[in-house]
Amino acid sequence: MSYKRAGIAVASVLSALSIIVLFLDGQAHAGQSVNIYSYREPGLIAPLLKAFSKKSGITTNVVYAKKGLNERVLAEGRNSPVDVILTVDIGRLADAKEKGITQPIISKVIAANIPQRYRDKEGQWIGLSQRARLVYASKERVKLNTITYEDLADPKWHGRICARSGQHSYNIGLLASMIAHLDEEKATQWARGLKNNLARKPAGGDRDQVKGIFIGICDIAIGNSYYMAAMQTNKKKPEQQKWAASVKLLFPNSEGRGTHVNISGAVLAKHAPNADNGRALIEFLTSKEGQQIYAEIVNEYPLKEGVPSSKRVASWGTLKPDPLPLETIARYRALASKIMDRVNFDAGPDS
Ligand code: FE
Repeated sequence: MSYKRAGIAVASVLSALSIIVLFLDGQAHAGQSVNIYSYREPGLIAPLLKAFSKKSGITTNVVYAKKGLNERVLAEGRNSPVDVILTVDIGRLADAKEKGITQPIISKVIAANIPQRYRDKEGQWIGLSQRARLVYASKERVKLNTITYEDLADPKWHGRICARSGQHSYNIGLLASMIAHLDEEKATQWARGLKNNLARKPAGGDRDQVKGIFIGICDIAIGNSYYMAAMQTNKKKPEQQKWAASVKLLFPNSEGRGTHVNISGAVLAKHAPNADNGRALIEFLTSKEGQQIYAEIVNEYPLKEGVPSSKRVASWGTLKPDPLPLETIARYRALASKIMDRVNFDAGPDS
């Protein structure tokens, strides 16, 4: 090949390249990616990530796991590939902050979308949706339609309540809120009273407690709101639709301070290799579009003002969330765990 012909060949390769570059520039982050560790199931997260990629051009790589992701990020240290950790429960979010695996997320978009009480003061974690800890009550055997968490310790419920482990983060969060609203002493009495009212030793998840109502072991159970939707729509396990049909939902303390809520949320990893893309993802999750997906597909309560709950969720009643900052709940977690041990909650009613 002569120099002249080679020159033409190089020029055409270059112009082809510049066309590609122009094309990429047309999309904000084309060719870029974000790495995610998710405690949340693929079925819940996939629709959110698909919508994010479509909008931003940023592709997503996800590692799903049920536990151990915070520990994994800590062990990976500076070499960690992760940008964003998606998780549920203030316990896990606060744990990530305590482990030092997060960095502050500074974003006007997020500050405008998510109320302060659902965000860490330093921006080390961000709430993305909320779930309420409700009372599931037998339609047949429970006549009342209002209840408080305090009522659950009343001896009139002796032998009638089903609950999962007192050490599970959902119940730790609830007890932490009781410590904040009452005090340590009264919260301890409450936990003891609740334990004495249990129908059986705590075991299984929230849905198993609703099954307990269905088969007549107990009359009320404590469970998170979205499990109602998960049971009602469970085509793989249609028996769960029967469990759901046997109960009504009560929103404890609606007439007072409000119902205990917890959050799902995200952190930006300390050593995020694609921090800008990670921030863009979290911003998207707080946007109207992201929040609508949480409402419609995940059946959780959106945090952005003006985004309504799904019709299904709205049909259960009106949620009045307890305004206690999630940071306060995080602070009382360790004490709540001690109290659960002190009252021997997991040993069950006759211990
Ligand atoms: Fe759950």
